[in-house]
Order: sequence, then structure tokens, then C-alpha cells
Amino acid sequence: MRRLDLRKTQPARLNTIRDINRQIVLNYVREREPISRAEIARETELQRSTISAIVEGLTGEGLIEEIGEGESTGGRRPTLLRIRTAGAIAIGVAITPTMTTVATSDLAGRVIEQQHFVTDSDPEKTVKQLIDLVREFSTQSSGSIESIGVSLPGLVDPSTGTAIYIPYFKWRDLPLAQKISSATGLPVTIDNDANAVALAELWFGRPEVCDARDFIMVLVAEGVGTGIIFDGQVYRGERGAAGEFGHMIVGSRAPVACSCGNYDCWEAFSSERATLTRYHNFAGLEQSPDLDFNSLVDLALEGEQNARGALVETAHYLGIGISNLIVGFSPEAVVVGGEITRAWSLVADALNETMERSIRRGLPSARILPSTLGPRPTLRGALSLVLASKFASAFAA
Ligand SMILES: [Zn+2]
Repeated sequence: MRRLDLRKTQPARLNTIRDINRQIVLNYVREREPISRAEIARETELQRSTISAIVEGLTGEGLIEEIGEGESTGGRRPTLLRIRTAGAIAIGVAITPTMTTVATSDLAGRVIEQQHFVTDSDPEKTVKQLIDLVREFSTQSSGSIESIGVSLPGLVDPSTGTAIYIPYFKWRDLPLAQKISSATGLPVTIDNDANAVALAELWFGRPEVCDARDFIMVLVAEGVGTGIIFDGQVYRGERGAAGEFGHMIVGSRAPVACSCGNYDCWEAFSSERATLTRYHNFAGLEQSPDLDFNSLVDLALEGEQNARGALVETAHYLGIGISNLIVGFSPEAVVVGGEITRAWSLVADALNETMERSIRRGLPSARILPSTLGPRPTLRGALSLVLASKFASAFAA
């Protein structure tokens, strides 16, 4: 039971029910496409005339489209509906400590076009490059882009559009949304990368994840970030600072320094950088700048023992942090995202073993699942900042 927050309530308007029904129909089409008006009517118990009026409105807004006729179940063949695929509607910008990716997608989240550049530690240079790409993409799509989503590896305040602190580049209080918006004329939503990927899992993830009301996303990249989905939405805490579990202490003398500078944070034990350093230590190599995490995963999958050992040790530390999160939150699932998911067959045992050992008898456990958003989920996250708002309802409980 949720206590009413009187500071945030609005009296119900006459069209609130209509808005809720509109979102129900839109989400039926999204999740069950191709689907006919009659099927939606059967499942929702909304009246056929109501559904027809809503479908007409959604088609007019360019959100759904008709795609021909389905099988007849006796009478006239039903017309099938799906989410409109024609043309780009969103731009996603995924800023990571190494690369920045700018891409367009349709309403269903399919990437249409993308380009990368090396992220410059000077925020002005990175912002200029990404604005140039956004302008190029929005010109090509002849004005159909509605909004831009940006994900960042650090502390972000989505309500003001400010990057509060990005540790890798020491960016502080950067009014990023306003800079991009004033240069492009488009609305901009920004968020922390792990929060954005958690949102992508909630809307576009596998059924075990997106049907869960409570789950935690653990994003393993240069750092380790977490996004908490609580009661079907991102839990943000004060100023969007919730979920900074990458800095919880899980040991001492980690293989690398955390982005915050300390050697005892979860991130310093479990990030891609930690795994690379373990590999170099196991193999007795000098630090080699040539090997990236992607290549380390390839080596491990080919059977190279030092690469395998490094990944298994990282999985052990990932498991320690995850078991702490499960004990504290009791989520339905924990989803792990990032390049490490390609090596799931090598790390799953170590992850689960650590978790099961540390979760005490009698406490509920949770499933640890690899993300299905691909090895680079942050772009999907950035796009979801735009796309989820099209499907989410401000009213539905
Ligand atoms: Zn730290």
C-alpha cells in the first residue's frame, strides 16, 4: 500500500481514464505485436469502439501502424497492428570513459545509424563533437527526431540535466542537457549509465527481468555501476545519487584504484580494469596498453588459462557485492550487463557459488542473469531515456 504524497498529487482530470486506456492499448501493441483490435478487446475488456478510437489516435500520432491482415477466426480477417518502425524518432548518446556513441533509433529501439568517437577529457570538446553528430543525424532524418537521451558514467541529476560529477574526467556541475538542447533545439534527458541501462532492461529486457517489479542492474565496464528498479521504476534517492554501490567496501588492496581513488571499493575489485590487471599479474607481463577487455574475453573463450583465471577471480568479487545487494534489497533478480556477459559460461559458476555461500540460510536468494541488451548496453540505455517516456504512463499504478 502506497501512502499518498500530498505534495505530488493532482486531482483526477476528466481525461485521466482516457490517458490510462491509451497507454494500455499502446503497451499491448508494443509487447504483443502483431496484434488485432479484437485481441486487445478480448484481453483488456475495453469496448471495441473505445479501442478503435484509441488506435485511430495512436496511428495519427505516428506511434503505431497497420501491417495487413491476420488469420480469420470465422468472420472478417482482422487488421494487425504494430509499433511504427518507419524512421528515426530518438537519438541516444552513450558517453563512456573511452568512447562516445551517438545513434538514432526507431520507436521500438532498433538502431538505425550510429557513429563513435574517442571521448575527450575536455568536456567542451566532447560536447562539441556530439552536438555535431546529433545535428547531422537530425538533419538526415528530416525533423522526425523528437528527443535526445544521454547516459554518463557518474553522478547525474536528471531533474536539472546536470552532470554533477564524472570521476574519470573530473567533470563537475556540467549543465549538459541545457548545452545540447540549446545547440540542437531538441529536448534532452540525461541519466547515470547504470540507471539508463536498468531502464532499458525494464522496457526492453528479457521477460524474467522486465516483468519483475524489483531488480538490480549491475553494469560492469571501466567502473562498476548499479541501477535499482524498485516497484517498476528507477529508484533515484536524493538528487539521483542512489545506487553508487561501486564504492561499497568489499576488501582491501584491490588490483587497481577505484575511479574515486581508493583501493577498497567494489569497483576496484570487479571492473574491467581490475580484470585486465589480474591477467597481467597472472601472466607475469608488463602492463601492455594493447590488450583491451574485449580481447581478454576472446582469449579466455579460446581457453587461455591466465585470462580465464582473471575472469573467474573478478566473478568472485562481483558475487560478493551482488550477495550484499541481495541481502539488503531482496530483489527478484540481479542483471549483469557489459562485455563480461560474453564470458557468462566461464563466470556464472564463480558468481553463483560466492553468492550462495554468503547468503545466509533462511534468507531469500535471487537469480543472477546476464543482460540480453548486448555487450554494450549503455547505448540501449541512452535510447531508453527517450523511448520509455513514450510508453510510460504518469497515471498507471
Ligand atoms: Zn570508489
